[in-house]
This record gives sequence, structure tokens and C-alpha cells, in this order.
Amino acid sequence: MAEPLLVVQAVTKTYQRDGQAPHLALDGIDCQLNRGEVMVVVGPSGSGKSTLLRTLNGLESIDSGAIRVDGVSLTDPATDVNRWRTEVGMVFQHFNLFQHRTALDNVALPQRVVRGRPRADAERYARELLGRVGMGDYGARYPSQLSGGQQQRVAIARALAMDPKLMLFDEATSALDPETVGGILELMRALARDGMTMAVVTHEMGFARDVGDRALFMDAGRIVEMGTPDEVFGHPREARTRAFLEKIL
Ligand code: ADP
Ligand code: MG
Repeated sequence: MAEPLLVVQAVTKTYQRDGQAPHLALDGIDCQLNRGEVMVVVGPSGSGKSTLLRTLNGLESIDSGAIRVDGVSLTDPATDVNRWRTEVGMVFQHFNLFQHRTALDNVALPQRVVRGRPRADAERYARELLGRVGMGDYGARYPSQLSGGQQQRVAIARALAMDPKLMLFDEATSALDPETVGGILELMRALARDGMTMAVVTHEMGFARDVGDRALFMDAGRIVEMGTPDEVFGHPREARTRAFLEKIL
């Protein structure tokens, strides 16, 4: 049988900080994710959630351990990290769109630059994806002319345009007005329904319980507890998990 789409083994990551002791941000992370499944990651601020996603995306190097996606090892010298980043899509809290490009160009340009798609093909696919995320009428707008929720929709379309094998969401709704959060969660839910494999850092516990196939609770760079959302959020075994859940619910 093929191995899970994502395999993370004994990953450690230390940040070196000027004038301070090095900080162990990931302290032996082991987890796996099957094709088409959604992993939800929760934990207090500073527990290493963003660092974990950033290492999965190749934005941060790891000190030791292994990360494989679809059987390809991130740390294999033969692996092109730039290509890896396009196959593992990432959606950030603050959208990170190109400010001086239209919504259409934000989705079309990476296809041309990274995938070498001809302009007409890239723009056709960009229009299709903008339609899929509910932004079909906004292709000509610049990010500054869009609401936060609309910018996040464009950012999701941009990531999808690379046909990623895995999508990572790092608190994708945390910077949004409360009334736009639901729409983005609905879009993420639709992606999951369509079979996208996703790792999602979120504080939206309703979403995490509904959409998650597996759940991780992280603290201090470690996975404290892992299981189904019902196990981890409904019947936590660890005192640290319970204390965290009591605080946020
Ligand atoms: P979370 O997303 O769970 O809030 P992070 O992964 O952002 O946690 O951070 C984990 C720890 O690593 C924190 O203590 C944070 O201060 C530290 N950290 C994160 N990024 C850096 C960095 N670029 N340089 C130094 N320390 C960092
Ligand atoms: Mg974070």
C-alpha cells in the first residue's frame, strides 16, 4: 500500500536568536495525513503551529527528521525546494497578495512564471478559479480595492492555480471581520469535500470538529495529543489540552 500523502518523522527545528538562547520550536514532530483528509492543528500561541506549516511548505529548513509528500523527501538534495513550495500550497493569515497586481494577475502570474503556462491558458484558468472562489467579478481589482475576505479568496485561488497536492492554512480567518469568517470556512469546507488534502491551523473549533479527519494539539513544540477531533476536543486525555480548550471555548 502506498504511504500516506504526508509523512512527518521526528522533525526538529531550532531558531537561532541574536543574543538569546536558541529556541527549539519543533521538538520531535511525528504525524501523517492520508490523501483527501483534513488535519486540524490547534494549540496556544508560540506552540510551533506556524513553524510546522512553514517547514511542510519548505519555507523553513529543519534541523533533523524527515518530511515526505507523495513519496518525495523534502531534504533529499535532489528535491527542488522552489518546486516543492508550489506543490504544497499555503494560505496565510494576512493573504500575502502582490499589492501592485490585479486579482487576475495574482492568480495568473505564478502559473506563467512557475509552471511556464502560456498567458492565455494561465488567465483562463485564473478566471475559472476566481469563479470557483466566488470572485469571478473581481479579476480587475487590486488587493487594496478588496475586503479582507475577498483578498483571502484570491489567495486561495492563487494557491489552487498550482494544482497543489496539499494545502496548508495558517489561521486563514484570524485577520477577518467576524461576518466574513463563515464564507472562508465554507470555501475551505468545499475544498475538503472536493478531496483536497489539507492541514489547517485554526481556532474555529466548530469547523475543526466538523471538517477535521484528524486533530493535533500542540504545546511547546510538541504534539501533546493526536486523534480524531472528537477524541482530542471532545474527550481530551491530557490536562494541557483540557486547560487550553477551557480557555478558548
Ligand atoms: P504559533 O504559530 O503556534 O504561535 P510559531 O511557530 O509562530 O508558533 O512560533 C513558535 C516559537 O518559535 C515561538 O516561541 C516563536 O517566538 C518562535 N519563533 C517563530 N519564528 C521565529 C523566528 N523567525 N525567529 C526566532 N524565533 C521564532
Ligand atoms: Mg502562528
